[in-house]
Amino acid sequence: MAESTREEKSSSVDLGFVEETDSWRLLSRFFPSKVGGKPAWLDLLSVPTACELACGVCGKPTVFLLQVYSPRTEQATCFHRTVFVFCCRDPACHTANSSACFRIHRSQLPRQNDFYDFEPPDEDTPPPEAEVWQAEKVWNLCCVCGCGGGKACSRCHQVRYCGKEHQVLDWKAGHKAACGAEDSSLPTAHVQLLFPEFDLVTEAEDWREETEGAGKDEEEKLRECEEYMRQLRQTQEGAGGSGLKEKDLEAAARQETEEDQQFSVFRRRVRKEPEQVLRYDLGGVPLWVSRQHVPSTEDIPDCTCGAPRQFEFQVMPQLLNYLQVDSLKESIDWGTLAVYTCVNSCDVGKAYHPEFLWKQNYSETALTGASV
Ligand SMILES: [Zn+2]
Ligand SMILES: [Zn+2]
Ligand SMILES: [Zn+2]
Ligand SMILES: [Zn+2]
Repeated sequence: MAESTREEKSSSVDLGFVEETDSWRLLSRFFPSKVGGKPAWLDLLSVPTACELACGVCGKPTVFLLQVYSPRTEQATCFHRTVFVFCCRDPACHTANSSACFRIHRSQLPRQNDFYDFEPPDEDTPPPEAEVWQAEKVWNLCCVCGCGGGKACSRCHQVRYCGKEHQVLDWKAGHKAACGAEDSSLPTAHVQLLFPEFDLVTEAEDWREETEGAGKDEEEKLRECEEYMRQLRQTQEGAGGSGLKEKDLEAAARQETEEDQQFSVFRRRVRKEPEQVLRYDLGGVPLWVSRQHVPSTEDIPDCTCGAPRQFEFQVMPQLLNYLQVDSLKESIDWGTLAVYTCVNSCDVGKAYHPEFLWKQNYSETALTGASV
């Protein structure tokens, strides 16, 4: 995403940050990267349907989380290119280390296409209000979630829905009163379903490995490890020594320490830019929060075209702070979400190509042992 300054940096990563902006700047025609609200679809004709965006756990429609505009200038078919991430709104579907409630789609277009001007858009002039709202009707999008809207309201035929689920939500939220009225096509927009909307801006990561600091940290970790083993041995002795053998204790302690080390590597890297919500590094390696549940190459399924997938970007836990998902009981949660896409960015199949996401949660030891 960043221009050609990469080579001089010791990091190949672009960081993403959320920013407030005028909502018109996040419309499809401006090719935005964005968080929350409705998706700004790239290909406008064959947007994913409710079925394609159904949560793999509860089966209800997922909600738009974010999209990353990431063209590949070397590939004519990817002059415009956007990767979309959706997730279920129900915290109960967000189980640890499972990506079953996420949906990923990639869309791309050549410079000459059916939807957008050949020349870049005028970014200083907001489009007329009516024209903006018109797009949803023209392209038959669900007025609640902005996804493919296969059903129209059978009474007024003025609004469309991706399915029964969102029709019922909208009916309760205001369409019941608006249906049949002169302006029934106006958005009700009271449905508390979408995530808050933000612009997603990127800048190159300015980072170099601080060897001195790292060395100190290793020493600290070694001391912690020794202390931990001493405690373990005491516990064992106190319990009559009938449990684990010393060899097992050492192995367990080593494993836990390595685990914490990964978490401190993560924290050290993020500390300089703690507000980062995204790390973009096409073909790179994700910054894992834990050594547990790291995928091997076999864990990343090939694209339907037969080519392997490569890492493209990861969503950071910091994003959760902007989503207003905290509740007393349970909450949507992740350590990191790593998104993998087709190495060829192929055009096989539909306009929206399913891609792959790997979710990693914090390990138990990292959470209890360190101040996050
Ligand atoms: Zn669900
Ligand atoms: Zn919908
Ligand atoms: Zn109606
Ligand atoms: Zn492919």
